[in-house]
Amino acid sequence: MPDTVTLLIEPLPADAPESAIEGTFREVDAAEPALRVGELSTQRGDGIFETIGVVDGHAQEVGPHLERLRNSARICELPEPNLAQWRAAIDLAVADLPGEGEFALKIVLSRGIEQGPTPTAWLHAVAAKDSTAARERGIRVVTLDRGYARDAAERAPWLLLGAKTLSYATNMAALREAARRGADDAIFISSDGFVMEGPTSSVILRIGGAYVTPATTGAILAGTTQQSLFEHLRAIGREVVERDVALDELRRADAAWLVSSVRLAAGVVALDGEPFPFDADETRAFNEYLLSPRD
Ligand code: PLP
Repeated sequence: MPDTVTLLIEPLPADAPESAIEGTFREVDAAEPALRVGELSTQRGDGIFETIGVVDGHAQEVGPHLERLRNSARICELPEPNLAQWRAAIDLAVADLPGEGEFALKIVLSRGIEQGPTPTAWLHAVAAKDSTAARERGIRVVTLDRGYARDAAERAPWLLLGAKTLSYATNMAALREAARRGADDAIFISSDGFVMEGPTSSVILRIGGAYVTPATTGAILAGTTQQSLFEHLRAIGREVVERDVALDELRRADAAWLVSSVRLAAGVVALDGEPFPFDADETRAFNEYLLSPRD
């Protein structure tokens, strides 16, 4: 069985019937050229994506990921995606992947070719990088200035904050800055002093027995992993809160995690070079839940 699957997808309009889906996928060799040089995704980062975790043959949280794709398309004024078609593409790819192990399945919807008539879409699934060390031993994190205030999304909607766009060059630059400072990851702080998110993850804190995450005001991405974990915590009787979180509260929190679809929950062990309280047992429990099949 291959451990990489790549599908080129002819995106259907949102209202196309399910009967139109057949024949809209073409499996290609990821090592061969597949996109045209006029692609606006590569030329301008003009498109949106989702990265979905696949664990032992089960694609996690497909519904929430597709809802977020639809929301990103709305913010970016891209044609509304046909979610049944995307679900069929994901099912096809997962059926082709080995039934054991962890995979990162990325789906992309780009504005397409310059002056072209339709958007371009594809799916690419690869074996996930080993996350064992981050899950078991935790991560060193630095705080970095995001360069804009918490209300930037309302004041400047053209920044497309809240959409998961392909323009991740600044997020990758933040990870390089974290590495330069001797850390594994970063937490963005708004220019007005509030905790936002990691470059590829959401932030969860434990403060006095409650689990707290920064409110999704539009300037940060609504995380599917954070939402799933909060549903689970609520179901087992814990208090969960979404609200503004000042930087000072992060510094004084009882524990903190960065959570995302493929690495799952990584506990913070150092913040800006200072040791930070790490709860190994709770992190293990989070990851046990996050590795179980979730829809
Ligand atoms: N915030 C940002 C900026 C991200 O890129 C990601 C995931 O890549 C997340 C949050 C976490 O989202 P999810 O849990 O859906 O993977």
